Amino acid sequence: MARTKYIFVLGGVASSLGKGIISASLAKLLQSRGFSVAIQKLDPYINVDPGTLNPYEHGECYVTEDGAETDLDLGHYERFSNVPTSQANNVTTGSIYKTVIEKERRGDYLGHTVQVIPHITDEIKRRIKLLGNTGKYDFVITEIGGTVGDIESLPYIETVRQMRWEMGRDCAVIHLTLVPYLSAAGELKTKPTQHSVKTLLESGVQPDIIVCRTERHLNENLRNKIALFCNVEPSSVIESIDAKTIYEVPILMRDENLDTEILRKTMMPLDSQPDLKKWEEFLYKLDNPATEVNIGLIGKYIELKDAYKSINESFIHASAANECKVNLKLIHSEDIKESNVAELLGNMNGILVAPGFGERGIEGKITAVKYVRENGIPFLGICLGMQCAVVEFARNILGYKSAHSTEMNPDTKYPVIDLMEEQKKIKGLGGTMRLGTYPCKIKKGTKLYDIYQTLTISERHRHRYEFNNEYIEEYEKAGMLMSGINPKDNLVEITELKNHPWFIGVQFHPEYKSTVAKPHPLFVSFVEAAYENNKNR
Ligand code: GLN
Repeated sequence: MARTKYIFVLGGVASSLGKGIISASLAKLLQSRGFSVAIQKLDPYINVDPGTLNPYEHGECYVTEDGAETDLDLGHYERFSNVPTSQANNVTTGSIYKTVIEKERRGDYLGHTVQVIPHITDEIKRRIKLLGNTGKYDFVITEIGGTVGDIESLPYIETVRQMRWEMGRDCAVIHLTLVPYLSAAGELKTKPTQHSVKTLLESGVQPDIIVCRTERHLNENLRNKIALFCNVEPSSVIESIDAKTIYEVPILMRDENLDTEILRKTMMPLDSQPDLKKWEEFLYKLDNPATEVNIGLIGKYIELKDAYKSINESFIHASAANECKVNLKLIHSEDIKESNVAELLGNMNGILVAPGFGERGIEGKITAVKYVRENGIPFLGICLGMQCAVVEFARNILGYKSAHSTEMNPDTKYPVIDLMEEQKKIKGLGGTMRLGTYPCKIKKGTKLYDIYQTLTISERHRHRYEFNNEYIEEYEKAGMLMSGINPKDNLVEITELKNHPWFIGVQFHPEYKSTVAKPHPLFVSFVEAAYENNKNR
């Protein structure tokens, strides 16, 4: 294989312009031409990983196969490229400094003064090259979090400068900026882009390609103007216009030749064509649903767009697979009471109770589970959502009125959900949950077996509590089956109700594994069940 090419994606002018989506779209395009691509995110904050950040700060925490708690952009990478990411795909300033300081304490620097340049930048470089050095990838796309000009981003930009200098055409820099439309002037404005590129130049980095996020089309004049002021070729000024869905962006980028520009800049062969047939089929189905359903998502962060990102996206994949539009209605768990549950959930064709931590809103979730159980509404409980289903069943079917998870009530007489043995000795919070992929054996004859069509699955986890196996027999006798078990330590991973159209709780997070190419079977089946529910009303 030829040498790995390194592509950097930096952002300017404003945050939230969609660097992650541009990176994932470029990866998709290169992949569809037959190249192998890895994507990586470098985050400039000092937390070692986002696992300890709450959703108000950082949106969803995405978990990889190898159990890294990472930025939600890694979810986009996987959903677009269908290639699993790992620890190496997410790097934070905290993790860089941790490594360097540990080396210093061991005496590895042999008495030298340890400095940002070269020690921190060398460590950043080492992390960037980890993926490239595997020899598996034609391209490594590295997205740098934050915005050019931030104090925190400086060591990363400096690393990009060094790598450009060392690697020449094996490296290319994409700068994503905002071209705002001023309605009073009736014009798109290029000045913020010019300034942002100047700021980048102060750090010694000349972008090769400028991707302009915009609400209106850029005309020829404007492209030429940006090219002239920012030292790039006019063909390297790429328009990124607001799209209806993020899944349209690879098509828009193909039409703007972003992939061709990258191949040209990195001296790679240009003789392939991107094959996006399957992707376009997916978009067509998404755009032309035959029918629709209402699904309620119950959580306590519903005001945050990014808190349940992967669940949202999984529904989009399952919508296309079923050619059935999912109208996802976010319902705040704290709003749900016995007195209004029928009014809030009555019109729903399915209810998903979201993952989560802590007490807030828990009784609302349990009330919702009771309602859907009694009314035959399809139910999917994920992680805490499954635990709520277990608690509800104990209280209302087994008659253990005070049953609870010991996370919420450590003194409950009926601890049907309890801390895992391995968790009891753990004190610190960072990276200490049961994380990443574990195998699960599915019992034949269960709904789960019908859905997965296989006896062994592997899914990703992120939790400390589990079903308390002392109660297994009682549950199964009363109609809640433990249909998936971890073969090594016997943990219950899946529960389902016998006498219900579709009622499933999973201790793992199926949403982390749903991609455009492979919609998750649980979500696909759940949407199908919601469709049936709608039809039979
Ligand atoms: N708080 C629960 C636990 O730690 C559930 C976690 C989750 O939903 N991810 O077990």
